[in-house]
Amino acid sequence: MAGVHIERLHKQFGGKATAAVHALADLTLDIADGEFISLVGPSGCGKSTALRIIAGLEIPTSGRILFDGRDITGLEPRDRNIAMVFQSYALYPHMSVRQNLEYGLKKRGVPAAERASAVDSVAAMLQIGPLLDRRPRQLSGGQRQRVALGRALIRDPEVFLLDEPLSNLDAKLRVHMRAELAALHQKLRTTMIYVTHDQLEAMTLSDRIVVMNHGVMQQVGTPEEIYSRPANRFVAEFIGTPSMNMIEGEIRAEGGRPHFTGPGLSIALPMAPSAGGRATLGVRPEDIALVAADAPGAIPARVTVSELAGAERYHFVSLGESPIIVRTPATTVLHPGETIALGLAPDRLHLFVGTGDDAAAVR
Ligand code: ATP
Repeated sequence: MAGVHIERLHKQFGGKATAAVHALADLTLDIADGEFISLVGPSGCGKSTALRIIAGLEIPTSGRILFDGRDITGLEPRDRNIAMVFQSYALYPHMSVRQNLEYGLKKRGVPAAERASAVDSVAAMLQIGPLLDRRPRQLSGGQRQRVALGRALIRDPEVFLLDEPLSNLDAKLRVHMRAELAALHQKLRTTMIYVTHDQLEAMTLSDRIVVMNHGVMQQVGTPEEIYSRPANRFVAEFIGTPSMNMIEGEIRAEGGRPHFTGPGLSIALPMAPSAGGRATLGVRPEDIALVAADAPGAIPARVTVSELAGAERYHFVSLGESPIIVRTPATTVLHPGETIALGLAPDRLHLFVGTGDDAAAVR
């Protein structure tokens, strides 16, 4: 196992004949020994590039990577003691599961008896013992993914690199394999760096999450920190389903207190931003309560549509003139056209000042 120190990594593609793409800009990150960390962000945000540089499959334009204090930036992938699992399982189709599992060990000249015992222990851990004599095409997607994990595990690497390993599975199997992966990490406590575009996967698996956009790290923190204290508007909107409601408006001083004023609404703010500027108020769908019309601070709203999503309901409502989503238990039934009153918990409000995705959270 190893801790990973990533220092000012930068990757630029092209630049002479073609326009330069800054796939990764100035990424600095310390990953603790045994930590499960996820790089998450939309397509093209640079997460795979970061992982490929850590693997040695891509050379950084500048910056360094250290494993437990050793600079490995210039090492070949095979000299880094890493194992990688990809979205495409990349199993050898003409080899049995056993041959796929032991291939790397065989290439390194590990004796047959030692290989057999390594295969047995990995197969037992992943419950693929009965499949050892099958070919990959005779396996289900989940079984293939388990073999791909097994092939990485058998190398007993210092660092595991996983690039969207569950994306090819159907929704139900993804949830199942996600739990298996979490259990595996609990057992092995090997450093794992996991790339995904799926924020829920990152939230459920990780000790910490790195949110990326346009090659730039937006925030790093525990799932709780990222969810409840997003650093900017991009993180706030990317993490959580349904997304955080965003209401555009401005900050005004009313009666000596800062208020957020949006179309058809005015809310006293618990934070103290300077008055006068444009701002966005963010509130998660579950942080909005249905209250009595005469409750202090109650805001009238009109229901547009209600959706049942299993154990809960999503109500699309107009708050002032802004469309927002309110999340309630399924037992709360509202009807289109109904007028309701909503309460926003002051300590659950987010305020973003600035423009676009970079608008920073004000605390
Ligand atoms: P995805 O989820 O779609 O795989 P990603 O976040 O992993 O996206 P990267 O694959 O790291 O994104 O790509 C980051 C940026 O770098 C993208 O704009 C991509 O087009 C560009 N890029 C990646 N590889 C190359 C390359 N070999 N040559 C030129 N540009 C590249």
